[in-house]
Amino acid sequence: MGIYLDYAASTPLNHHVKDWIITHLDVFGNPSSTHQQGQLCREIIDDARNDIADYMAVDSSNIIFTSGASQANSLALTYNVANIFESKIEHSSIKEWIKYHESRIGGHPISVDNYGFIDLEALERTLSVNKAYSNLIVVQWANNEIGTIQDIDIIADLAHQYGARLFVDATQIFPWIKSLDLTHVIDKIDMLSASAHKCGGMQGVGILYKKPDIKLKPVVFGHQEQGLVGGTENTLGIGSFGEAVKHVPSFSSMMRIIDNRNYLYEMIHNKIPGVQLNGPGLGCGVTKTSRLPNNLNISIGGVRNDVLIQLLDSMGIYCSAGSACNSHNLNPSHVLKAIGLKDSLANSSIRFSIDEEFDVGASILLVKRLEPLVRLIRQSK
Ligand code: PMP
Repeated sequence: MGIYLDYAASTPLNHHVKDWIITHLDVFGNPSSTHQQGQLCREIIDDARNDIADYMAVDSSNIIFTSGASQANSLALTYNVANIFESKIEHSSIKEWIKYHESRIGGHPISVDNYGFIDLEALERTLSVNKAYSNLIVVQWANNEIGTIQDIDIIADLAHQYGARLFVDATQIFPWIKSLDLTHVIDKIDMLSASAHKCGGMQGVGILYKKPDIKLKPVVFGHQEQGLVGGTENTLGIGSFGEAVKHVPSFSSMMRIIDNRNYLYEMIHNKIPGVQLNGPGLGCGVTKTSRLPNNLNISIGGVRNDVLIQLLDSMGIYCSAGSACNSHNLNPSHVLKAIGLKDSLANSSIRFSIDEEFDVGASILLVKRLEPLVRLIRQSK
């Protein structure tokens, strides 16, 4: 087993979740069947919905299960919009949807600053000149590549001041909302997407939370999930999400992760010249961080990230250039371009995303491997 540093792409199953899955592997039946076997499945789904609702401090009737955050994003965008105001650093599932529908729906890409924070003045200006009955602001709560955490409190106020609704892609921040003391903000959000496999649950399961007055259209026809996502539910996957939210990092674990992430950056910075941090500052010993606690994104000057990642992989160290969803795209990351990086620096970016197990010893080992590789790549040019 190597060193896995790609928690932003997907987390392993939390061991409590794994135990829960194992004890439920023999559960079968269709949750829509009225017999006991079906009702056992229904109970698992109901419990998971309640557990996730408790975690978010919302009403469980506002949660719709989907096949992941990408499907939840597509579902949210079935809202009858006139204009979409999206940050320039949205996930591909949002960007591609907007591109596909551009002949019908006005997209208004909003710039971000050099740290990835949305330009609130530009957002307000664009909102004020594009007044319409149904406008929608689409913002990632936290960015998957550089970890920037947006101030959703302020963005929600702005949206509502201009009569727009706010849809937040909370996929990356979801495991942290409690420890970061952000749960209360959800009250101001009209729709929110999240995914189980970023929190220690199974892949292929997500949620869309929506306020009751938001009307959507089905992404899959059928009677399940309020008629919006038809098809027999993924009972164990949904159950795994319900279990996962009970075991997200505590406040003290989060603080340890922040310290370890910062230690890793210090080590890399001290040992390897020409390294630059991408995204917001790292923050230390604070509760109000504006960067995901486990995210580190750096550019290593003169080192192509595809080459470095492959070499690290051959040594059993697993990380990515940024978004796993775009890893087959050779163009520089749209997120890094949006924060003003030149192509050469964007193409030398690498993202480490860690968990509670990653400690000082792992940092030392990683840097011991990284340093000679960087030297080798630079010398071979
Ligand atoms: N939004 C963001 C911000 C993400 O990071 C991801 C996953 N990379 C998604 C949406 C899509 O999630 P899923 O894999 O559950 O479809």
